[in-house]
Amino acid sequence: MGKSKQIGNHKSDKKKNIAKTWKTKRRTKDLDEIHSDMTPTNAAKLLKQEVDYDVTGSAQHYCLHCARYFVDLKAMKEHFRTKVHKRRLKQLREEPYTQAEAERAAGMGSYIPHKAVEVQTQQVEEEMS
Ligand SMILES: [Zn+2]
Repeated sequence: MGKSKQIGNHKSDKKKNIAKTWKTKRRTKDLDEIHSDMTPTNAAKLLKQEVDYDVTGSAQHYCLHCARYFVDLKAMKEHFRTKVHKRRLKQLREEPYTQAEAERAAGMGSYIPHKAVEVQTQQVEEEMS
């Protein structure tokens, strides 16, 4: 009799993971994480990753700003033209501004004027033409 009750219980460990997966599904990375990915050193590493067959496109086509992998160069270029990508670039530009504003609004005193961030789609190597 008590058996059926236990079934639901033993999955509780999995539930925790589901909550995490759900969150990361919508936003692979936080914007501030992507901001740090955008530093030249990190960007270079991310854009030239080792071949990994477990990852989409063997990890060779990565959109830095969306933290997404693509099957091939063509798919990635198409992605660069999408709304999703353009919205992301815009978000990345605005984020530091928003944070500075929030701090000032909270009366944190030391208001540092925000530095305008120019966010551009990464350069793609034209290998096949
Ligand atoms: Zn993108």
